[in-house]
Amino acid sequence: MNEHCTLPDVAKSTPAPAKDDRAPALIDPFGRKITYIRVSVTDRCDFRCVYCMSEDMEFLPKRDLLSLEELNRLCGAFIARGTRKLRITGGEPLVRRNIMSLFRNLSQHLATGALEELTLTTNGSQLAQFAHELADCGVRRVNVSLDTRDPEKFHAITRRGDLDQVLAGIDAAQKAGLSIKLNMVALKGVNEDEIIPMMTWAHGRGMDLTMIEVMPLGAIETERLDQYLALDVVRAKIAERFSLTDLADRTGGPARYVRIEETGGRLGFITPLSHNFCESCNRVRVTCTGTLYMCLGQEDAADLRAPLRASSTDELLHAALEEAISRKPKGHDFVIDRGHQAPAVPRHMSVTGG
Ligand code: SAM
Ligand code: SF4
Repeated sequence: MNEHCTLPDVAKSTPAPAKDDRAPALIDPFGRKITYIRVSVTDRCDFRCVYCMSEDMEFLPKRDLLSLEELNRLCGAFIARGTRKLRITGGEPLVRRNIMSLFRNLSQHLATGALEELTLTTNGSQLAQFAHELADCGVRRVNVSLDTRDPEKFHAITRRGDLDQVLAGIDAAQKAGLSIKLNMVALKGVNEDEIIPMMTWAHGRGMDLTMIEVMPLGAIETERLDQYLALDVVRAKIAERFSLTDLADRTGGPARYVRIEETGGRLGFITPLSHNFCESCNRVRVTCTGTLYMCLGQEDAADLRAPLRASSTDELLHAALEEAISRKPKGHDFVIDRGHQAPAVPRHMSVTGG
């Protein structure tokens, strides 16, 4: 457990707000309905992945973070306005103290049918401990980030992670009946040669694999160009040995999926830099301080913490949500090239939530 995660949250069981049929759905100026939120519950993490954080990352003061009760209220307000899918992320969500009480409270929205899916993205380090409880809270699928199955490389990429612990977490999650999708960031010259072995291993265990292109978020030590590996190159390499069938599965996000005929498994490609997916965007992100980012690639944001803390009822919060969604931009504009050495967006992924 992360020693920093000692937030004095009062995670009392708050009743799930009844779904208010009169509350209008959140629809942006381009007619896109917001049905998916990603909520970062902490900026802290037990790893320091080279593409995500700097070695000596400074974390936010605890008072700035939303309490678990506030996070529960916030999610409840989104759900009342049409959110159907909720992804808990971070930082590493499972290092936040008492995080299971949030899952427990949110699971009530699954029980009422207001929420279709409650899920999380995790580095897997704490999964062995929490897999059963997550399954018990109605979580059915988990995204686990795993860039390599080589213990030394794993330690080098995460700067402090233990591969065996993550593999044990994956085992435990599968035993608990959770479906797993692995997320693998494609890193030039680092794990390029492991992509096909990772895919066959994942598919052999009934897990999907999604490849992610490095995104220019936050200042880190390594130059982005050194890490960037275009996924169309990866796809072409895989296609030399396997038959790929495009799948229609659309998530409203940047992932595109293929079926690998030889393994029967699914392979996803998240290519925010080389493809435009914004027209079908159905999602927004909330940071652990209650800042709502209407677009992963834009700086415009809305503060939800102030309306949350200003009143114990949710009127101000709903008004803030409406105002923010009316400002959701049409799309983003990431660039990685020699002329853009600075990050396109200065905040780290661990702040916005992946
Ligand atoms: N700690 C959890 C984890 O690693 O799965 C959840 C948060 S993490 C920020 C979410 C995802 O973002 C991970 O799959 C991670 O690999 C990815 N990620 C982080 N920084 C990235 C970057 N600069 N470009 C692309 N993906 C990134
Ligand atoms: Fe932590 Fe996830 Fe970022 Fe790695 S990618 S440092 S595990 S938040």
